[in-house]
Formats: sequence, structure tokens, C-alpha cells
Amino acid sequence: MLDQIWISTIYVLKTGPGWDTEWVAMKIESNYSHYLVSQNHLYGQGFCDWIFAKGTLFGEKEQWWDILGERPTSHEGVDICAFNDSGGQQIMLDDSFAVPVMFDGKVIDMFDDFLGKTLIVEHDYMAEGYQLHSMYGHVLPGKHMLVGKKVEACEVIAKLAPKNHPQITPHLHLSVLMVEKSYAEPVRWQSIQSNGLKLCNPLDYINDMVFSEVK
Ligand SMILES: [Zn+2]
Repeated sequence: MLDQIWISTIYVLKTGPGWDTEWVAMKIESNYSHYLVSQNHLYGQGFCDWIFAKGTLFGEKEQWWDILGERPTSHEGVDICAFNDSGGQQIMLDDSFAVPVMFDGKVIDMFDDFLGKTLIVEHDYMAEGYQLHSMYGHVLPGKHMLVGKKVEACEVIAKLAPKNHPQITPHLHLSVLMVEKSYAEPVRWQSIQSNGLKLCNPLDYINDMVFSEVK
């Protein structure tokens, strides 16, 4: 349901030396493309830009793994599957691909999805009573990853889950979600459209995403 897309002024909790604890209005963006590229040593492989095929972007209805199929609901995030290198080759990601986190935060949940596991990270960013979360789907968390663990922006939290579906290549499903502070249920894909949850376009929170769309 695209009418749930929602962006507003975000407040960042500032703490630590030189700061009283306070919420400061700020535009929140991550250098997430750089995190992905550097943590996977893709600059050395001639990384050029990410490839977003039809159905991989936020809000799209198509299933990219089955061009005749439609998703049951609009896509809840972006699927990062492949990149172009400087030699013009399209390189598909595989299960050696490391998955970093977008912002500092804390892992608050980990559960199975239909291709691997999903990790949810809570961040110290608020807007109108909602808190920013990021979700990393179809991954295998590192053995050191536990619910409650604090993580830093760019830290690797998982690798992609291996291919275990005949038509779906290993990929990162990335969602950005605002969660109402009073929301008491565990966040699950099946209930991601519930009241109290607001899906955002992850690309609005990434300031360095260079990509080609393949339609
Ligand atoms: Zn997806």
C-alpha cells in the first residue's frame, strides 16, 4: 500500500562527550553504497553501479524472478542483486557477499524468512513518535550476531543466504521502516502493513546509491 510511504523530519538522539542527551533535527542518510562496495572489495573488481531490474525497487508490483508474476503486495524495500563492472559485465551477487548495517544501532530481532533469515536493527532516530529501523532479508547472520548486540554503521552483520530457490538468486532485501514507540508486536513480513508501522523507500536514506534501472 503505497499510501503508507512516509517521510518526515527525523530527530537524532545525541549523547556522549560534548552533548547533552537531546533530539536534534537532522536529515538522515547513509553512505550505504560505499559500505556495500568497500566491505565486499568491489572497487578492486571495477565496481561501476548497482543494477535494479524491474520489480526490485520500492513499491513495485512485479516479481523480478518471474516476469509473468505479480507480488501479493507492493515491494516493501529494495532488492540488491547485481552490479555493473567497468568492463561492462553484469556481476550477480552470491552467498559470499557481506551485508553491512546502514546506521549505528542495535539488533532487536532475527527470524526465518523464505530464503534465509531477516535481521532487524533499531536506530536512535525518531520522528513524531516513530523510531527508524532497518531490515536485512534473505541473509545468514554471522555467528557473533545476537539479538541485543550493538552495531556500528558499515559493520558487517551477515552474508547473503545461499541460493535455495530455483529462480531466485542470492540478494539482499533491504527495508527501512518507522515503528511507532507503542507498537508491541514483533515486526514480521506478514504484518508489515499494520497500523503503527510505516514503510519508507530505502533509497531516500542512502545518499550515494549509483544505479542503472533495467526495465
Ligand atoms: Zn525484496
